[in-house]
Amino acid sequence: MQTAIAPQELRPTVMEVDLSALTHNLQCIRAHVGAAKIMAVVKANAYGHGLAECARQLAADGADYLGVALVEEGIELRRAGITKSILVFGGIWGGQIAHYLDYDLDITASSADKLHAIDETAAASGRRARVHLKIDTGLGRIGVQWDRLSPFADAVLAARNCDIIGVFSHFATADEADQTFAREQLRRFHETLDYLRSRGITWQYAHTANSAAILTLPEATFDMVRPGLILYGVAPGTHLQNVLPLRAAMTLKSKVVYFKVIHAGQGISYGQHFHAEHDTRIATVPVGYGDGYFRRLSGRGEVLIRGSRHPIVGNVCMDQMMVDIGPGGTAYNGDEVVLIGAQDKETITVAELAETLETTPHEILTSTNLRVPRVYL
Ligand SMILES: *Cc1c(COP(=O)(O)O)cnc(C)c1O
Repeated sequence: MQTAIAPQELRPTVMEVDLSALTHNLQCIRAHVGAAKIMAVVKANAYGHGLAECARQLAADGADYLGVALVEEGIELRRAGITKSILVFGGIWGGQIAHYLDYDLDITASSADKLHAIDETAAASGRRARVHLKIDTGLGRIGVQWDRLSPFADAVLAARNCDIIGVFSHFATADEADQTFAREQLRRFHETLDYLRSRGITWQYAHTANSAAILTLPEATFDMVRPGLILYGVAPGTHLQNVLPLRAAMTLKSKVVYFKVIHAGQGISYGQHFHAEHDTRIATVPVGYGDGYFRRLSGRGEVLIRGSRHPIVGNVCMDQMMVDIGPGGTAYNGDEVVLIGAQDKETITVAELAETLETTPHEILTSTNLRVPRVYL
C-alpha cells in the first residue's frame, strides 16, 4: 500500500507564482496602451510560470487574446478550457493544419505556400481557417519579406477559405537603447500594410509590439500588443525598469537542509574550486542545475537567507549547492533560501541574473525545469 506524501515531506524547493502580479501587470499594460487589444503571450509554459494556470488568470483578468509558440501549447490551452482566441506564432509543419482547425487556433501564415496549404486543408474539411499574415520586417526568422509581397498578396486573395484576422511582424532590437533599427522595422511594417490595403486585402488586427516596444515605441501599438516578459513583471532591460510599475510574479525558493562549520583551507564541491580563507559556516541548499538553476553561477551567484545576500561557493551540483554564511553568520536548517525574488528588504531580480549570465531575462525565466513544483498564490 502506498500512502500519500505530504508536501512538507517533499524537497522544499519550489517556484512560487503570484497570480495577482499578473493581474496587476496586465492592468498596467492596459492603462499604458489605451484602446488597443492585448494578446497575453504564454508560450514556453508561460515563461516558466505554468501555462494553464497563468492563461486562466489572464483570461479571467480580461486579456483579449492569448499567444503561444507551438500548436501543442494551443491545444493544451483548449483542453484546459480556455475559450479566448489563441494565435500560434510558429510556422506550421507537417500535418498540423488540421489540428489548428480542430482546436479553433489562429494560424500564422508565413509564406504563400503555407497559406495555400492552409486554404486547401480548410476547403477539404469544409471549415474556415483563421489566419494571421506574418511579415518579416527584419528579424529574419519566419515571415514573408516586406519587400517581396506581391506573390503573397496574390495567394491571400486566392485563399477563399481563410479569414484574414491579422497582419503581424516582430521586432529584433526594441530592447536596445538605440531605436534606429526598430524604427526602420516599423517603417517597413507601415509600408507592408499600405501595400496590402492597396491590393484590397483587409484584416482586423495589425500587431507588432512585444514588451520592449510597448515600453519604448508607442507608435508601434496599432490594434493589438503582444506582451510576454512584462506580464510576468520583468523589464526587458535594466534601462527599462521604471517605465511601468511592474510586479515580479516568480519567486524561486528553497530551504537550508544542512549546515556545518569548515576550517580555513578546506575545499567545497566538485573540482574544489573554493577553499575557505578562514573558518566559516556553510549551508547546503537542495537545488542545482538538474532543476535548471545555473551552474555558471558557481562562485559568482548569490542567494538570500535571513534577508541578506550570501555567495554560492564551489560548483553548483546537479541537485544541491553550497552557500557561505560567513564566520559570524547564522542560519538554521529550515531557513528559507531565495534564489530569485524578494526576501525582507533584499531582492535578487531576473534582470540582475540576466546581466551576470550575459543573457536575456527571457532565458532566466524559462530555465527552471519541471522538477521544481509550481505553487500558486
Ligand atoms: C515571444 C514573443 C512575443 C513576446 O515577447 P516579449 O519580449 O516577451 O514581450 C511577442 N510576439 C512574438 C511573435 C513572440 O514570439
